[in-house]
Amino acid sequence: MTAQHDATEELEVWIDQDLCTGDGICAQYAPEVFELDIDGLAYVKPPAPAGEEADLLTEPGATAPVPLPLLTDVVASAKECPGDCIHVRRVSDGTEVYGPDAA
Ligand code: SF4
Repeated sequence: MTAQHDATEELEVWIDQDLCTGDGICAQYAPEVFELDIDGLAYVKPPAPAGEEADLLTEPGATAPVPLPLLTDVVASAKECPGDCIHVRRVSDGTEVYGPDAA
């Protein structure tokens, strides 16, 4: 896992639920981006307007944008994820920059 991206690049994150253990570490680090659903697995969610709750994106491979202020927390989630199933990639070319498939 390496840090190879320019801070101006847009990033997105997705979770491979097949590998999620449901421990909830990601939702503790970045609750604005990750949440456990009733099935006990973690899903991403898009940014919500202040005071509103975003819907979880439950389709397989669904991605949510990574707001820059939350990048550190999202990267920490990917590093600590026991399932190794949090993938952060560049929007422009789909290259994984943090996560198990990062170069
Ligand atoms: S940290 Fe990883 S394994 Fe744990 S709930 Fe989040 S996505 Fe699932």
